[in-house]
Amino acid sequence: MGKIKILSAQVANQIAAGEVIERPASVVRELLDNSIDAGADRVDIKIEEGGKRLIRLRDNGAGMDKDDMLLALKRHATSKITTVSDLFSIKTLGFRGEALPSICSVSRVEITSRPASQLIAYRVKASGGEMESIDETGAPVGTTVEVRDIYFNTPARRKFLRAERTETGQIIDTLSRIVLPFTHIKVRLDDAGKTLLNLPASENELNRLSVLFGRDVAVSLIDTRRETEGIKIRAYMASPEFSRTRGDRIYIYINNRNIRDKLVTRSIIEAYGQRLMKGRYPQVVVFLEIDPSLVDVNVHPAKQEVRFHQSRLVYQALSSTIERALIDQFRSPSYAGCQGSKGIENRYFNQVQIAEPAWEYHGEGKREVADKESEIKQPLLIKEAPQIIGQLKDTYLLFQSEDGLLLVDQHAAHERILYEKLKKNYLSSKIESQTFLIPIRLELSLKEGRVLIEKIDQMAALGFDLEHFGGNTFLLRSVPSILVNIEWQAFLLELIPVLEEEEILVTEKAMDRLITVMACHGAIKAGHKISHKEMAMLLEQLDEMDLPTNCPHGRPIFRKFSYYEIKKMFKRAV
Ligand code: ADP
Ligand code: MG
Repeated sequence: MGKIKILSAQVANQIAAGEVIERPASVVRELLDNSIDAGADRVDIKIEEGGKRLIRLRDNGAGMDKDDMLLALKRHATSKITTVSDLFSIKTLGFRGEALPSICSVSRVEITSRPASQLIAYRVKASGGEMESIDETGAPVGTTVEVRDIYFNTPARRKFLRAERTETGQIIDTLSRIVLPFTHIKVRLDDAGKTLLNLPASENELNRLSVLFGRDVAVSLIDTRRETEGIKIRAYMASPEFSRTRGDRIYIYINNRNIRDKLVTRSIIEAYGQRLMKGRYPQVVVFLEIDPSLVDVNVHPAKQEVRFHQSRLVYQALSSTIERALIDQFRSPSYAGCQGSKGIENRYFNQVQIAEPAWEYHGEGKREVADKESEIKQPLLIKEAPQIIGQLKDTYLLFQSEDGLLLVDQHAAHERILYEKLKKNYLSSKIESQTFLIPIRLELSLKEGRVLIEKIDQMAALGFDLEHFGGNTFLLRSVPSILVNIEWQAFLLELIPVLEEEEILVTEKAMDRLITVMACHGAIKAGHKISHKEMAMLLEQLDEMDLPTNCPHGRPIFRKFSYYEIKKMFKRAV
């Protein structure tokens, strides 16, 4: 007698439930997906005890007839696909026919449903995967699914459920993620009589974005749209100053399905580039529309991962789109935030300050799109150069500009300037060197010396003429002329570990890191007094930079306080 036996449907469903139904929020996800697929434009959800005791979802979608209701609870029963090839043209959120049987195998379920073609509704009751009854009843068109006592029959799993507050939080998060693109659906979430979420149907996505990001961030989001390589991209991006230590505010949608994806996340972070400090994540929503045949959603039962056929293409298209939008929006100190000014007369002379949102929040109303023409960088001649006020703590430069007070971090600003200049010169192999009258003698450790000997040619390409003098002694004969007043010993001690680590000059990234170290050491330090002439030059050069908003490490270079903000501060304006 063989040892192998076929598992009962109930056990098979419980195994599937392990993957699909991790916690109450997964039940909400699956039920909501079904309501959206059924074409509902109104969904009401009620939960008790974080969904552990009850989750009830009512929709006004297509509903099911009696036969379908009986089948829906069976494994691999779906109305959404028939053949394998259908997997590659999926337009619905569900397709595996697993959710309802999985939920049913680990809880007590009651489904009431009525299609428009029927006058009466039916109610099915099932518990722990066993069908209990089916009765006629009265109900409006649509479907109500009630899920009670999740994991009542698998106590081991029930133990893994977290506190009510945590599970409720997960439900709110899941719900608001899923419904973001479906702005035509009115959604409401109640917890034992208290309304947790009430999202009206509205053309405007701002309402839903506010739920995900909070109002302050939501109103400051900039948006961009582009179609390239057959991919439709729509993205909302927060200013880099709203960066976070976790990537939990990066929302990704492929054909309206909320997914998690490392590649897409990486291309977003790459696009923010030096606008972010190391280890920080931006706040972004990205909607990608791709031909369903070019993306595989059947990767995991929870359907939250995808596989792209041409991932490189997606990566590049997205990264370049976001980067372009960021360049357009967050620019130099003199021109930063010059979007939004309305009317011809003030277009040139009265640009709106950076702190003002690109468009206003009008609740349900239409948002105002920034006046594109006024976003174009104005030539210096028209714009009056900011006036120097002075230096604060020998560290920050203060300027009076047309629209307010401008504060510049002198070190960060100079670092940015040196970085971009060095990089441009390096790329055009034009790093100019300057020879010392008396070479500088450097004493290194044995290990450092060995690294340096090995990389002496590559240092030459960066504009350093170094000579091994014997032992661990080196002579520094010439250096890039742009770098002055550097503590050379300290500089090399920081450069050597980077040299050691990276195959320098091979990748752009490695070269970038070296140039960043050079710029950092070469830049004016905080606490260093500089003349008015130097201040003016610094600002002028900063204006010409590609990325004048952040230093190469991602720290902000300047902040503007608009006259309006200042007025408000002193209660001269409300
Ligand atoms: P899937 O969504 O992958 O098809 P489910 O187990 O979630 O699998 O649902 C099984 C079937 O039950 C669906 O294909 C659909 O036909 C039907 N169904 C489920 N929920 C609803 C609903 N809210 N309204 C109408 N039909 C539904
Ligand atoms: Mg489903």
